[in-house]
Amino acid sequence: MDFRLNHVDEQFYKTTIKDFLPEDIIDVHTHVWLDDFRCKKKEEPARTVSWPSMVAKDNSIEDHITSYQIMFPGKKVMPLIFSNLSPGDDLEKGNEYISRCAKEHQFPSLMYVQPNMPVDELERKVITGGFVGIKVYLDFAPKYIPQNEIRIYDFLTREHLEVADRNGWIVMLHIPRNDRLKDPVNIAQMMEIDERYKNTKVIIAHVGRAYCNEDVGDAFLHLRKTQRIYFDISANCNDWVFKELLKNIDHKRILFGSDLPILRMRTKRICENGKYINLIPKGMYGDVSRDSHMRECTGEIADQMTLFMYEEIAAFLEAAQEVGLKESSIQDVFYNNARSMLMNAGFDLGLK
Ligand SMILES: [Zn+2]
Repeated sequence: MDFRLNHVDEQFYKTTIKDFLPEDIIDVHTHVWLDDFRCKKKEEPARTVSWPSMVAKDNSIEDHITSYQIMFPGKKVMPLIFSNLSPGDDLEKGNEYISRCAKEHQFPSLMYVQPNMPVDELERKVITGGFVGIKVYLDFAPKYIPQNEIRIYDFLTREHLEVADRNGWIVMLHIPRNDRLKDPVNIAQMMEIDERYKNTKVIIAHVGRAYCNEDVGDAFLHLRKTQRIYFDISANCNDWVFKELLKNIDHKRILFGSDLPILRMRTKRICENGKYINLIPKGMYGDVSRDSHMRECTGEIADQMTLFMYEEIAAFLEAAQEVGLKESSIQDVFYNNARSMLMNAGFDLGLK
C-alpha cells in the first residue's frame, strides 16, 4: 500500500482533528477484503458507482490497521469489519477472511449476506463465524428489479430481519434508490424497521447517502420519530446534513464510521445541482473520465487537498460546534455509542 500523509494532511490533523477526538475510537463502517475473492470476469455492470474501486483494489487487514496508524497518530482505533464484494465474487471466502481477521485481532465483524440465504443457514454461520451481525447490499437484490426500483426489503428480507432481531444483531444498511434519504419508500421502510424490530441494531450507512443538501427533503420530519435506528456518518462530508441529523436524531444514535479504504482518498467533495462530485488531484486515480462523480483538478485546490477521512471528521466537528454539541457527546459519537451497541450485540470488549 502506497499511502502516507503529506504536510497538508499533517497540518490539518494537528489543527482540526487531533484534539477534538477521543484517544479511543470505534469505526463502525469498514471494508476488508482481498482482490483474490473478486471474480475477474463480470457479466453485467454493477448497479452502483464505479469510483470506489479506483481508490483501492483491496484492503487487507494489515493495510487496514496501518491506515489508522498513519491517519490517527497517537490514537487507538477499533474497526467493525466486513467484506466488500458484489454478485459473482466469492462471498464465502470473503466472510471466512473477515471471521479469521476478527478473531486474530479481536475486532467485531459482520457477515456479508445475500437475501436468498436460508434463515437457519444464516443463523448458524453468523454464530459459528463469531460475527455480531450482517452486512447487506443492494447489488444482491433480484436481478430483474431495475436499479432505481430496488426497495430495502428486496435485499434485507423480513426473514433476515427477524433472525437479526431475535439475536440482537447489528445490521449495516446502505439504502437504495436515486432519491436517497428523502425517498418516500425508503422512509416508510426505515420507519417500519425501527418500529417492528426492536432488538436489532440497524445502522443507516452514510446518513442514508444524503451527500448533498438536496438529498434530505423532509426525511427528518419523519425520521425524528424513530427510536432505535442508528445513523453512521461514513463517507459523508456535508456539515449541513450533519447539522440536520444532530438537530433531529438523539446523538446517542449517531456513530462514527469511515468507509475505509475509500476514505484514504485525497479529495474535496462538492455538490453541483444536487449531485456530489469528488474533486481529485489530476492523475492520482487513473482514468476517471467515465465516472461522473469524479473530476480532476490542478493548481492550488489540488495542492491543498487532504484526505476524505479528515474532510468527513472536520465536517462533523463543524456541525457539532454549530449545534452546540458538548465535548462528551462528541466522545459518544466516536466511541461510547458504538461500544454500548457492540456490547449489546454480544461482543466482548474486555477491559477496552
Ligand atoms: Zn461501505
